[in-house]
Amino acid sequence: MKVIIWGCRGSLPSPGLEKNYFGGNTACVQVEHKKTCIILDGGSGIQRLGENLKPETLEINILLTHLHLDHIMGLGYFKPFYNPKCTINIWGPSGTSKSLIVRLTRYFSPPFFPVRFKELPAPVNVMEINNSSFKIDDFTVRSEYICHPGPTVGFRLELDKTVLAYIPDHEPALGSAHFPDLEQWSSGYNIAKEADLLFHDGQYTNAQYGRRIGWGHSSIEQAVKFAKLSKVKKLVIVHHDPANTDSQLKEMFQDFNQNNTVNLDWIMGRENAVFQLA
Ligand SMILES: [Zn+2]
Ligand SMILES: [Zn+2]
Repeated sequence: MKVIIWGCRGSLPSPGLEKNYFGGNTACVQVEHKKTCIILDGGSGIQRLGENLKPETLEINILLTHLHLDHIMGLGYFKPFYNPKCTINIWGPSGTSKSLIVRLTRYFSPPFFPVRFKELPAPVNVMEINNSSFKIDDFTVRSEYICHPGPTVGFRLELDKTVLAYIPDHEPALGSAHFPDLEQWSSGYNIAKEADLLFHDGQYTNAQYGRRIGWGHSSIEQAVKFAKLSKVKKLVIVHHDPANTDSQLKEMFQDFNQNNTVNLDWIMGRENAVFQLA
């Protein structure tokens, strides 16, 4: 499978000359295999993905981890919604009191957006998930609730023996005195276990995390500890803070490697990065 990052900024799009290397678009990762197109989250990065989609891609699968704005704000600007020849399947968690479709309709309605959900020209199928397992063509997809404010899932995509895990907003250390805990007590473990590639939240330094406990995000150190606990082969840090410039993000990477014995293949995710998994 081929995996492309179209957005890895957290919370808010943050374009700017000083942020060009890592990019300013929010959460969106594309997974391609043969004719299958799976899109993880519909942040602002999905707009450019839509511009670059192969014209023969007429069935699109969008997996939403949760409905915080940075993960859905690009949906209305995703071209295939306006092509009646395209079919779009959306999976995501429901709210505690509102269904997924009602929550999506809130976004696709004035005053937030001029086009209503039912007016979109493309047929759209909406599927609610929780701790679920389902098939998309050759892929087996698993979703599981993870630790983040509001109903939020992580995704595990399995294709033959290759595993991709996607947990962009995650605070597994919340409420834990000695993180990482035992595997069975760690939020997200079943999603990430032995993945070839894990996209994981690493928005903060340790000092920043100390002032933001309970906000739903991780420090780089927590992301690395979680990845090692889960025995993943490669970790890609995402959900970069909107305030961080390219040089600050590069500094966070270097500082962490200098001050820790990491023993893990890890990088800071950046827009346009491509990963080819067997
Ligand atoms: Zn987010
Ligand atoms: Zn979130």
